[in-house]
Amino acid sequence: MSDVKKILVTGAGGFIGHHLVTYLKKQGHWVRGVDVKRPEYAPTDADDFLLKDLREPSNALAATRGVDHVYALAADMGGMGYISAHHATILHNNALINLNTLEGAKQNGVTRYLYTSSACVYPEFKQTDAAVTPLKEDDAYPAQPQDAYGWEKLITERLCMHYREDYGIETRVVRFHNIFGPLGTWDGGREKAPAAMCRKVAIAKLTGQTAIEIWGDGEQTRSFCYIDDCLDGLTRLMASNHHDPLNLGQDRLVTINQLADIVSAIAGVTLGKRHVPGPQGVRGRNSDNTQLRQVLGWEPRISLEEGLKRTYVWIEAQVRQQVATTR
Ligand code: NAD
Repeated sequence: MSDVKKILVTGAGGFIGHHLVTYLKKQGHWVRGVDVKRPEYAPTDADDFLLKDLREPSNALAATRGVDHVYALAADMGGMGYISAHHATILHNNALINLNTLEGAKQNGVTRYLYTSSACVYPEFKQTDAAVTPLKEDDAYPAQPQDAYGWEKLITERLCMHYREDYGIETRVVRFHNIFGPLGTWDGGREKAPAAMCRKVAIAKLTGQTAIEIWGDGEQTRSFCYIDDCLDGLTRLMASNHHDPLNLGQDRLVTINQLADIVSAIAGVTLGKRHVPGPQGVRGRNSDNTQLRQVLGWEPRISLEEGLKRTYVWIEAQVRQQVATTR
């Protein structure tokens, strides 16, 4: 796997896909990106960038032509606010994207295919307590994901397994637990909790507000993993011989209230919290990293504080720009 490959990254206009293209280029690979949009915050490093909609089979066939490996990241997705309110569109769009991309890869003789699944596949009934037991890979069954987003991920995990068994394409499946970092969506409705928190704190700091809004009582818990660790883990998994789904995330559990306090401390402000009604997702979710350590001999290393510091600096700069242009 140390030799140069031709690699396709789908969703290369999105947060993780954009970073992954840069990471693979630094490793010396030839990289093609595909997405319905270009990266919003920085130009792509891809050798070839196709603006194509993967819901269309011919586009998926064209995108997967002539490459050795595929990292399948394209998805219609967002934070809790988005995925709890767009079930039909998400299930429809993501099912088409994934059916078409995997079939295109098979037809074009792609040898390795990594699919990015999610902790959202885990059953709701195992995530009812804020002091949740960390989720092991086997906990996904019996299945009862909370949202259509999670059901679709679970189906595509199975599709990958069957394509490997029936057609011999080497598939890998990663289950991300809340990846965050700079150059990700931070406003507009699709942003996830860490980016939303950084934005709210930055706006409060720059406009002199004394409190920020938190959805629910803020005692819901999650773990958060910085983008650099995510890229390291992804490429290690692609190079491994592990076929089954594998968690990729941090296993340090924090409440959303604690997340707000960490970001406020980074920004150098003390802010009150206004708890307002809003989608909260499951009550608690954490990653059990036992298998991750066993399979990859590795686990994420960047602390939440360090990752949030790097993210906050970038988001505060975006907010400053926005505040300046609306004046
Ligand atoms: P993102 O929304 O930033 O990127 C997804 C990209 O897919 C977007 O640029 C979007 O334009 C593109 N896309 C959507 N529909 C498309 C279509 N029809 N054809 C081509 N491209 C299309 O999301 P992300 O955070 O970078 O996530 C990447 C992958 O990881 C997704 O599959 C997501 O479900 C999964 N994931 C992410 C997280 C996380 O915390 N970020 C957690 C779990 C799983």
